[in-house]
Amino acid sequence: MPLNYTLGAMSIETTVPLAVFHDQRADLHDTGPGHPERPERLPAVVSAARAYCRHLHHPSQTGWDSQIRVLEAVRAVHAASYIDRLQHSCAAHKNYIDVPDSAICPDSFEAAVASAACGLAAAEAVAVTKSARHAFVAMRPPGHHCEHNRSMGFCLFNNVAVAACRLLTTPGIERVAIVDFDVHHGNGTQHLFDARDDVLYISTHQHPATMYPGTGYGHETGTPGTAGAGHTLNIPLDPGTGEAEALVAYAGPITERLDAYRPHILLVSAGFDADRRDPLANLRWDSSTFERITRLLTEVADRHCEGRIVSFLEGGYDLHALAEGVTAHLGVLAEG
Ligand SMILES: [Zn+2]
Repeated sequence: MPLNYTLGAMSIETTVPLAVFHDQRADLHDTGPGHPERPERLPAVVSAARAYCRHLHHPSQTGWDSQIRVLEAVRAVHAASYIDRLQHSCAAHKNYIDVPDSAICPDSFEAAVASAACGLAAAEAVAVTKSARHAFVAMRPPGHHCEHNRSMGFCLFNNVAVAACRLLTTPGIERVAIVDFDVHHGNGTQHLFDARDDVLYISTHQHPATMYPGTGYGHETGTPGTAGAGHTLNIPLDPGTGEAEALVAYAGPITERLDAYRPHILLVSAGFDADRRDPLANLRWDSSTFERITRLLTEVADRHCEGRIVSFLEGGYDLHALAEGVTAHLGVLAEG
């Protein structure tokens, strides 16, 4: 029996536990020799994902292959002047935009659009068509450092923020929670939503005194005097700390905050660079840490939002650690 079939005039759709979204245009994004955010990351991720989903989903299946349509959604997050600047910088064969970390090539704009498109398609699958309970966006470039009007880190469009804004236009989605377990603080995501109360941003990361981008202190809780005050939760972790400290945060204050907020969907900025093997950071997480955190998040989603989770690949620069972390994360999401 196929997943989708027609019975008379009635279309019947089966909801699968996990759908993985990917577009080969990600491979076009060439960051140059020696850059850690390199094309080789995605084959490691995709082969791990195929253990759970034989058929990867492409944004064209839901009409998100239209660049015009994707950029309309991106403009809800990023300044039109930044989008134009990125497009023209790529076309002009510039080596980077804003900072050398944000390396680009002539095809990087197309890859960034495809990355955003996969996030939008994944959000639609989980929240609108409900063809999947959980979705994972196996794409690059990543997004959580990208600000309203500039790139940062290795990020060109803030994919999780673009999906969040789009989701908030969906009937029944009035509160979105974003949980970011990448080892770096998601400064872009925090800043895009820190005056709003319809997005709760929660991040664990290596302490900002010791790690890029230097934001994400515990006292950053949302812009005072705005609706967003109290709608950001940052939990910095000391260098060298491992699974025990992470689980204290996720089972304690993070679960409590999510339970109080009662999100209608849970988005995850899933970076795997807190793994002890990662070359860019100094936390000591293991694959089991990603599995246990994911399990706690699925329990929250089951309590408040019919299980709905859309997870976005962010960092992770040791290819073995990345593949194992993704395997652990998706293993939980594929359970149902
Ligand atoms: Zn990172």
